[in-house]
Amino acid sequence: MALITQAPRGVQDVLPAEVYRWQAVENTMRQVVQRHGYREIRLPTFEHTELFARGVGDTTDIVGKEMYTFTDRGGRSVTLRPEGTAGAVRALLQGGALAGTLPVRAYYLMPCYRYEKPQAGRLREFHQLGIELFGAPLPDADFEVIMTAREILAAFGLKKVRVEINSIGCKDCRPRYHQALQQYFEGHREELCETCLQRLERNPMRILDCKSPICQEIAKNAPITLDYLCDDCREHFESLKAMLDGCGVQYTVNPRVVRGLDYYSRTVFELVHEGAGAQGVVCGGGRYDGLVELLGGSPTAAVGFGMGIERLLSVMQAEGVEIPEPFGPDLFICSVGDPARDAARRLVYQLQEMGIAAMYDINGRGLKPQMKFADKARSRYCIVIGDGELESSSCLMRSMTDGQETPCPLDPGAIANAIK
Ligand code: ATP
Ligand code: MG
Repeated sequence: MALITQAPRGVQDVLPAEVYRWQAVENTMRQVVQRHGYREIRLPTFEHTELFARGVGDTTDIVGKEMYTFTDRGGRSVTLRPEGTAGAVRALLQGGALAGTLPVRAYYLMPCYRYEKPQAGRLREFHQLGIELFGAPLPDADFEVIMTAREILAAFGLKKVRVEINSIGCKDCRPRYHQALQQYFEGHREELCETCLQRLERNPMRILDCKSPICQEIAKNAPITLDYLCDDCREHFESLKAMLDGCGVQYTVNPRVVRGLDYYSRTVFELVHEGAGAQGVVCGGGRYDGLVELLGGSPTAAVGFGMGIERLLSVMQAEGVEIPEPFGPDLFICSVGDPARDAARRLVYQLQEMGIAAMYDINGRGLKPQMKFADKARSRYCIVIGDGELESSSCLMRSMTDGQETPCPLDPGAIANAIK
């Protein structure tokens, strides 16, 4: 029975009574990113498994152990998207959108799927806002992307958010850093977790991102990327910092920020909510100049971020940020008696045509339950019509916010005017 009465582990329903919180967050996100010139891209829920294996990287946790992969009826391996970037690059390349004028700005707001151990702030189906900026190699692009992420959090009045930045170098300087890391972690072989032992061979930087406390402790004294950057990468990072400083943006350089995905280069950043622990990373992003080429396009600079909506909602709750519950209908028409009920129905449809959210009781109940329903539905205004109102062709318009009653002709135009 539990199989049909309980949703699978790690997914969340949003019921009609609470959806306004999601809608408020989504609307603000869209407004901010669209103001910066990002246009929405809509992507399929599943892709060829190969796209993520290549595009996210097979040394990552995502590809290594978190993907929802299955064989379809045609015998092909497909995977529910664990993130948005690989699919966005695939789609833009396929549609030729990176071949024209650059930069190209795209955003998505969509569910992603990862087989993780469900806990607070960590779901198997979660929602992400992502922005991707292509064809802009200068630090101005990194700056824009970080500022956009900050703006979204600021729009909700969140205060306890820290911007952490780092640079992880490029394909020229990273090998030297990898070597230094390997050397360091070799000395701690016995203490590292199983997964990190594999990371040690294939991608030692991932160890810095391990969530095991022992590995984290060891990582504290590991060499840092910033000491191994080539001149170009160092200059890029210094310019970015100067741009942030120039706009009075507070940030910290955190050499431990490396991000979980393989395709990053140079700038990486996180927006962390203080006091929320490991799940306090609301937003993570950075530069991934090699990805477009890796997925079959010509070399194209790229930078972006992913922001977890569930995590944003939970830090908003933790900080006591209230989202006001919106009103329901503009007007609820209560009626007493059959002729009045007929009039109520006609009025509702006349008002609806005029763009007014009007309602009446389709269950034909008595006056008291009608009024109760109007109140529960958070109606802005309410009128009651009975034989008297029909005879005098007038009614009392009651504001549900302050209880004030105003006389009004029983006519759709007059009613519409009265509640505007
Ligand atoms: P973490 O280190 O917390 O596992 P990540 O590095 O795997 O995060 P990204 O792939 O960068 O995360 O995803 C971007 C954002 O999406 C994260 O900063 C977070 O807000 C959110 N996110 C990632 N995984 C989940 C999840 N399983 N449930 C809810 N939100 C998630
Ligand atoms: Mg993760």
